[in-house]
Amino acid sequence: MCRAPAPRARLAVEGRLLLGATRALKHHCQAGAVLRHQRWFPPAATSLVQQICERIFVIARVTREADDDGLVFFHAREISSFPPMDTTPAYPTLRIVSHPLIQHKLTMLRDRGTPTKIFRELVDEIAMLMAYEATSDLVVEPAPVDTPLEPTVGRRVSGKKLTLVPILRAGLGMVEGIYRLVPGARIGHIGLYRNHDTLEPVDYYFKVPGDAAERDFFLLDPMLATGGSAVAAVSSLKRAGATRIRFLCLVAAPEGVTRVANAHPDVTVYCAALDRGLNEQGYIMPGLGDAGDRLFGTR
Ligand code: URA
Repeated sequence: MCRAPAPRARLAVEGRLLLGATRALKHHCQAGAVLRHQRWFPPAATSLVQQICERIFVIARVTREADDDGLVFFHAREISSFPPMDTTPAYPTLRIVSHPLIQHKLTMLRDRGTPTKIFRELVDEIAMLMAYEATSDLVVEPAPVDTPLEPTVGRRVSGKKLTLVPILRAGLGMVEGIYRLVPGARIGHIGLYRNHDTLEPVDYYFKVPGDAAERDFFLLDPMLATGGSAVAAVSSLKRAGATRIRFLCLVAAPEGVTRVANAHPDVTVYCAALDRGLNEQGYIMPGLGDAGDRLFGTR
């Protein structure tokens, strides 16, 4: 049975709602979105929360419209349509993008029965959804624009074009999906092999835009396993002058995340899942098998 909150509990709920409302107004965002991320409301307060959210939303919208000429761009973290990313103190550089669509598609990707064509489409779609989240804090600048009715000022992403760098060969599967989202992106490539004597990765191919210091880089590889290739690829990018690097993968192993964090603590790793660990052959468990073979049908 759902009872109304007792007077003291109600006071506490109202106090918290007021805090949420103040935050929503201050940041010009939707109160509901702010409050949705809070978990401290008792179930009996649901209807009260709903009513107050609706009122705050109206006030916030009026304030925003007055300030911003009616143009609203949803770039702030609170108003991303994604749920907050999972972070864990054990892996401070890791962001797990846990959107339900990503999790659904990832489960299909793990399925050993998924055919190559569908596998490739799923990698493409998950990469695009992850890039949406990984680009949510790109810097924007004012951009004058003439609508059919009048001139106004919108916003556009500022700075040099984002650069996507797939690690050959499985990283190639993530390029197109992100490129559709950011069609102005530049694309570099890194090819790595393991030296049999030293067991160290060596790059046999490396090509990125010349002005690396001024760009944001997304390094792409569906699997972050031991982290050896990831660390080497980041080091190569840094040698070329890159300073702003993010690593996007679909499935990560704790071993790889830790190795990248130790070598490059400035690099944030985005993944759709943090799996249990590696087996003796270096495969991620439960993982999805050999991503390159499954993408290109080579097994
Ligand atoms: N590379 C893959 O393709 N799969 C793994 O599980 C580990 C590395």
